[in-house]
Amino acid sequence: MSELLTERRREALRLDLEDQQKVLIEEVYRLSQGLIHGSGAPESFAAGLLAGESPNIPDGVKAAERLDEELRRLRDISRALTRLSRPDFGCCEQCGEVIPFSDLASDATRRSCSGRCGRV
Ligand SMILES: [Zn+2]
Repeated sequence: MSELLTERRREALRLDLEDQQKVLIEEVYRLSQGLIHGSGAPESFAAGLLAGESPNIPDGVKAAERLDEELRRLRDISRALTRLSRPDFGCCEQCGEVIPFSDLASDATRRSCSGRCGRV
């Protein structure tokens, strides 16, 4: 069996994931507020409508897609944080090989090696 993650490395990944989690939560909050309140204040939105402008729907759709993506990412991070405390964290879920630390450091949510299993 190849070398597993040291405690220090594991801790570094945990801190990194928790940082990303915080940023994402703020981003998700910001995006969902934007979706709820629409772009800009209600008065300017109404004024735009009255002036014959069409409501900014493409933006809303984009924000919704973005929100979806960020929520997915947030879920990946939460799962990675849960897996982090398991002894098999850092092993490819498909072939069982140890994923190089450099790969985990660039993305701790990855679950497979970059070799024949490809990125999952
Ligand atoms: Zn693999």
